[in-house]
Amino acid sequence: MMKTAIIGSGVAALEAAIQIKALKPESEVVMYSREKVRPYRRPALSGMIAEPMNEAQFYIKPETFYQDKGIRLELDHTVTVIQPSEKFLTFADGTAAAFDKLLIATGSRCFLPPVPGIEGENVLSLREFADFERIEKRLEAGVRKIVVIGGGLLGLELAESLLERGCEVVVTEGCPALLPRNLDAEAAAIVEKKLAEVPNLTLRFGVKVQAVEPDGVVLESGKIPAELVMVSAGARANTALAAAAGIRCNRGIAVDDRMRTSAPDIFAAGDCAEVDGVCYGLFNAAKMMGQAAGRNIAGEEACFRPESYPARLAVFGLKLFSAGCFDTPQAETSYDPETGNFRKLFRDDSGRLAGCILMGDLRESLKLQAEIDSSR
Ligand SMILES: Cc1cc2nc3c(=O)[nH]c(=O)nc-3n(C[C@H](O)[C@H](O)[C@H](O)COP(=O)(O)OP(=O)(O)OC[C@H]3O[C@@H](n4cnc5c(N)ncnc54)[C@H](O)[C@@H]3O)c2cc1C
Repeated sequence: MMKTAIIGSGVAALEAAIQIKALKPESEVVMYSREKVRPYRRPALSGMIAEPMNEAQFYIKPETFYQDKGIRLELDHTVTVIQPSEKFLTFADGTAAAFDKLLIATGSRCFLPPVPGIEGENVLSLREFADFERIEKRLEAGVRKIVVIGGGLLGLELAESLLERGCEVVVTEGCPALLPRNLDAEAAAIVEKKLAEVPNLTLRFGVKVQAVEPDGVVLESGKIPAELVMVSAGARANTALAAAAGIRCNRGIAVDDRMRTSAPDIFAAGDCAEVDGVCYGLFNAAKMMGQAAGRNIAGEEACFRPESYPARLAVFGLKLFSAGCFDTPQAETSYDPETGNFRKLFRDDSGRLAGCILMGDLRESLKLQAEIDSSR
């Protein structure tokens, strides 16, 4: 009986396991995860800081699902070594397991800017459920003054949740404008103005963190006092296990569009994988890569076809949608300061829609996204 081992229990791992069992029900599928909880919706972690979530909202599948589908879930199992030619894995407790096919779905980790003090006890980031528990402990212990390093989508979501827990939050961002990957300068200025009115929230743009000290964050202009520092400065693919096994890695584990790595019978999918030079770092991309990997492992031919992955954000009463690219020769803007509705369409030389930014009224988002996708 063929045995597939999967390292990780994120959405890529789970989707692959589901596909393999659907196509090859008689085969053995085991997911090994270093986390202690069954697969959950990782993007829900920041919202959970603001308010508890029920099981159905948080976990991707109910507890009984795994047994029903014949997927073995080995939680609290950290893989430390992959032996590609002997086809076995070693775990942190010294035990080992064999496989016929392997999927590496180890996800990514938070990037920590290389500044003194960043590894300090007063610094946390939010990536896994265990991180959420650490943050909860600090909040329960009365921590309220927090600096968030990084003013991207996740940094702002985190800041909102912390404010809802009664914290005073300062967000620092190295770029001179807000959400540089998701907004142009005009839209960013509108959002910044709106966020400047939010009580207990301070935004500091174009500032470089020089060090983290036990009582705050040091910028060139002085120190921002903080009891806790949260880092939300991007993610990096978890490639170390694969690289140590001699599997080809660049920024991520290099795979083809069928999710095959450079080692026979070893696949990679999700945030840890790099397809055509791109590490996506997005939930839907990870899900689709997992599905493609699962089908290929089960003997079908399935390719991962990337789509455009638009950005959506709903924080501080603001609703944002952006897709495509903004450096085009033509742009049309409409903005109503009364309602806050903003709409900007970016067109290429031939007048085709290349990108859009919507704020407030997002009803057109799907239609515009389809138009952008069709002109790619
Ligand atoms: C707070 C937060 C909010 C987010 N919000 C969004 C959003 O709004 N939209 C969006 O598209 N994306 C969002 N993302 C990103 C999205 O969650 C990821 O793209 C997605 O979860 C990637 O799935 P994955 O299966 O590749 O990896 P992951 O979900 O990261 O899972 C990897 C798993 O592998 C395990 N693992 C790693 N190494 C080992 C090992 N050696 N042994 C055993 N297990 C191991 C990890 O513990 C983890 O459980 C967010 C991420 C975070 C953290």
